Amino acid sequence: MFALKGLGYAAMAVGQTLEPFEYALPELGEHDVRVSITHCGVCHTDIHAIDDYYGITDFPFVPGHEIVGYISDVGPAVSGLKAGDRVGIGWQGRSCMQCEWCLQGEEQLCMDIASATTMVPYGGFSSSVIADGRFAYPLPLAMPSPVAAVLMCAGITVYSPLRAFAAGDKQKVAIVGVGGLGHLAIQFAHALGCEVTAISCSPDKKEQALAFGADDFIDFSDPANLRQANFYFDLLLCTASGMISWEAILRTLKKRGRLVLLGFPDVAFNSTDLVAHELTITGSLLGNRATMREMLAFAQSHGIAPEIELMPMSQVNQAIQRVKENKARYRIVLVNETEKR
Ligand SMILES: [Zn+2]
Ligand SMILES: [Zn+2]
Repeated sequence: MFALKGLGYAAMAVGQTLEPFEYALPELGEHDVRVSITHCGVCHTDIHAIDDYYGITDFPFVPGHEIVGYISDVGPAVSGLKAGDRVGIGWQGRSCMQCEWCLQGEEQLCMDIASATTMVPYGGFSSSVIADGRFAYPLPLAMPSPVAAVLMCAGITVYSPLRAFAAGDKQKVAIVGVGGLGHLAIQFAHALGCEVTAISCSPDKKEQALAFGADDFIDFSDPANLRQANFYFDLLLCTASGMISWEAILRTLKKRGRLVLLGFPDVAFNSTDLVAHELTITGSLLGNRATMREMLAFAQSHGIAPEIELMPMSQVNQAIQRVKENKARYRIVLVNETEKR
């Protein structure tokens, strides 16, 4: 049974703290499923969206896009899913299914991506959410719901570029930043057979980075420490944000090496090394549906799991504050107290 109204937490205007928000449940489209939410992770992107960093946020705004719950209702054209099924839903809740990217199975590049998020009209910090059933992923039975929630955004974000650029051999991979994304990237890269080096400005994270599967750790609080790794890495995933010593980073790449940006750091560097060493710099956004299914199965079979703090959904503002202050170790998942709602 689900409520006739959605009960969520919304920012009523740019940058505001969230407050309880009641709304009429959106109509189901023919391919849509309605999911009664049990868990929703807190991602940096939620905070960026509250601050309208991307310039596409409509208010009132209910964030939340690392969603796990049970299907309560399905549209007439949904196949393979039924009420009662447990599913995960990530940032992308739909796509046009017609543009050149969707037709290639690269739905994360859909030309209509701005309207594809599960946060339109209202996201996962709520009692329920709707999405196209083709973007609702049945979860491995043994996978705990909080783990699945985090994999729906943080997991796919790191797995997709590793799979595309580093899978299946002994490539030397560096992960910059040991946080919500980084600690998962280390686990996936290790399980994919890569030699993994964690690079972080927090030397106190060394022990944990090694426990997550890193073979080595470089303290980046002094960029000079990176010199030991000049011309060493095939692939470098940057999960950090803010201003980074890019020239020190780029020099650790082998010739024709690749830097992948996963967050939204400020980027500025001298182009000499880029040209002279024939480097590639690319971004990577989420992943397609096939990769999402593969990632869930891979995480389950290799025992990959994020470190999670659970907090009740009613403490959403405290959770956001912890993420903003980089205090979360390593990811926060909100739990819906359905009995109270
Ligand atoms: Zn996210
Ligand atoms: Zn499309």
